[in-house]
Amino acid sequence: MHKILQTLVMLQDLDCMIAEVASKDVKNVEKKMGLKIKGEDQLQKAKERLEQSLPPAVLAKYHKLMKRFGRAVVPVVGNNCMGCYVSVPKRLMVREIGNRELRNCERCGMFLYWV
Ligand SMILES: [Zn+2]
Repeated sequence: MHKILQTLVMLQDLDCMIAEVASKDVKNVEKKMGLKIKGEDQLQKAKERLEQSLPPAVLAKYHKLMKRFGRAVVPVVGNNCMGCYVSVPKRLMVREIGNRELRNCERCGMFLYWV
């Protein structure tokens, strides 16, 4: 897989984990059980490291998409972008090319990867 794409997938996973750890539900459980779920700082640090490894333009687009849709990297399943469910043009459908190059859905703009 394209290195930037791989980094974006990891970054998105991290963002989801951070959001989960920071969520009200988790905080309530922590309070009730009198324990603290560890790892929030480590997740944050790992996130910063990943962000620094990305080209600024890619990172800016990532943030923009996350803000707008809550995610930025989506798989192509069948012929469809899992961001907007619109079918991806055939010329983008060659799997090998799909993951070797960084591609965005022409409709929703999300980064695409082929599974
Ligand atoms: Zn799309």
